[in-house]
Amino acid sequence: MPRCVGSKPDGSPCERIVPGSQSYCYSHDSDRSDERRRNASRAGRSKPGREIKDLKVQLESLANDVLNESVEPKVGAVVNQILNTRARLIEVDRKLRETEELGRELEELRELVERDSGRGEVRRSPWG
Ligand SMILES: [Zn+2]
Repeated sequence: MPRCVGSKPDGSPCERIVPGSQSYCYSHDSDRSDERRRNASRAGRSKPGREIKDLKVQLESLANDVLNESVEPKVGAVVNQILNTRARLIEVDRKLRETEELGRELEELRELVERDSGRGEVRRSPWG
């Protein structure tokens, strides 16, 4: 199988498997840079790491406010529920993006398999 001739950011070779007619994988194909930019900006919009950090800060200050009685426990409990819901949404969002990424990789693999069978190179999969 041919390998991508692109380089990783650290300068080492990429070596991802690519279709026979191509020299570059999805990450290094300049024809697909628009597609990559769209996907990257979609991923960049939600920034789960920063959101989780914000939530931690809010939880910490909420806990302090309840402890020093500047916030009523009743109010603190409701705010905690809201923060909890936001935490769940961040998790759902992360899983969605993970699934999308897996879908793209599956699509690349499917293209490879279909190209191979199109050339009449029958490869037996290890799963029969
Ligand atoms: Zn590559």
